[in-house]
Amino acid sequence: MISGIVYLVGAGPGDPGLITMKGLNCIRKASVIVYDRLASPKLLAYASPDAEIIYVGKSPDRHAMKQHEINQLLVEKAKDGNIVTRLKGGDPFVFGRGGEEAEELVENGIRFEVVPGITSAVAVPAYAGIPVTHRDATSNFAVITGNEDPTKEESNIAWDKIATGIGTLVFLMGMGNLPHISEKLIQHGRSPKTPVALVRWGTRPEQRSLVGTLENIADKAKEADFRNPAIILVGEVVKLRDKLSWFENKPLFGKQVLVTRSRQQASALSRRIEELGGEPYEFPTIQVTAADDYTPLDNAIKNLSSYRWVIFTSVNGVKYFFKRLKILNKDVRELHGVKICAIGPKTREELESFGLLVDYVPGEYRAEQIVAGLKGNVQPGDKVLLPRADIARKILPQALAEMGANVEEVTTYKTILGAGDAGKVIEKLKQKELHVLTFTSSSTVRNFVKLLDVDNLNELLQDVVVASIGPITSNTARELGIDVTVEAKEYTIRGLVEAVMQTDSRD
Ligand code: SAH
Repeated sequence: MISGIVYLVGAGPGDPGLITMKGLNCIRKASVIVYDRLASPKLLAYASPDAEIIYVGKSPDRHAMKQHEINQLLVEKAKDGNIVTRLKGGDPFVFGRGGEEAEELVENGIRFEVVPGITSAVAVPAYAGIPVTHRDATSNFAVITGNEDPTKEESNIAWDKIATGIGTLVFLMGMGNLPHISEKLIQHGRSPKTPVALVRWGTRPEQRSLVGTLENIADKAKEADFRNPAIILVGEVVKLRDKLSWFENKPLFGKQVLVTRSRQQASALSRRIEELGGEPYEFPTIQVTAADDYTPLDNAIKNLSSYRWVIFTSVNGVKYFFKRLKILNKDVRELHGVKICAIGPKTREELESFGLLVDYVPGEYRAEQIVAGLKGNVQPGDKVLLPRADIARKILPQALAEMGANVEEVTTYKTILGAGDAGKVIEKLKQKELHVLTFTSSSTVRNFVKLLDVDNLNELLQDVVVASIGPITSNTARELGIDVTVEAKEYTIRGLVEAVMQTDSRD
């Protein structure tokens, strides 16, 4: 068998967006991925579904794999002919022991490549609003190991030189030795008033920072129970943070937001939350699947040109309608002469993606508004087709019928209870890890309550912001005993996010 190859890849400091394109490609093509604690697990989503994924870091139930065992693993997997991607936090050659792994590969005659990564030593300060160099403050910086045993007789660190000879000092792996580090620097001539910043889990939504001076930072850290993984940043540049802090100032920074939409629909909301500095937690309460019986829809499709209007009330409605059209070996030409209404901009976009122009989109995205807008357009006796979910509200067909329309409702898809891990959500609520819950429809609320199935829901939701997409969803929530904290003014995802931003649940 041809022996494989090992890519030693820097995964970046935590924000998954900070991997290089080359690194991402290595994840995509790997048949084996070996990763540890500091490499963002979110990157694994890009791995091939067949890839073998091996975690070699510490976990609650076992110790981290020893370095020689990791080396051995890489060699074996490569010898088996695999494409092995060894994913390491930050840069593989900056205190990543990547050098040792590479040596072992060379000794075993295994091909390898190194894909450098963005090191935490530079990126974490950047996300804390601290440039490691600055014309006014310093012209150099050093990255130093902080885990040298302080009782060691002969230090490998030239404390006398770095204390005064270098402007910005970045210590990695140093939290356990913080008192020792500050002491050494002061001892060797650095001013006790030198600013110091500690940044934990930098570039991630959990990022936390603590600022002090060489003389007080150790006490402050102890008081705040500030732990690894964190960097210690020493130097005048720390002061720039007051002006340049940007990540921690994002509107949703530090907030975990529950997304209850179906998996297919969650991503737009999740992405927006991330952009605003929040951390989405997806708990799909709804699953969208095909309807049980397509006879009514098939009949309608066979007679499409007999309808005056087709009204689409959701993106899913459009998707499943066109799926069916295709199964019946037909295409958009069947809609010739039929007027099309979309309930909102997303539904319109979906229709446009099929090359259709939409005749009417109501200003407010509710059934009541559709009816108002169609008045004058729909004549008594006109046939109106409503392809939609099995559980859709009756108000729209009723109102259309009152206008004299001949309404036909056909089921295009059905929604069932999502299969998310409710136990985990309950645990997160108990631990106060979730700050905001978002509900984008009545069924997301109903299913959320059903899935959690607890007696003390109100108690669990005490400190949580509950955000609803509109009055109908809010009503359903209230009926189920959930207090709605904020409601979107515009009944869209954008409106919902706006509403969430108006609240400050952090305190
Ligand atoms: N190769 C890595 C460093 C590995 S040593 C790199 O280039 O970033 C591990 C140390 O890196 C941790 O103890 C901590 O000091 C630092 N570190 C890595 N990721 C970090 C993060 N997201 N936030 C804060 N410190 C981090």
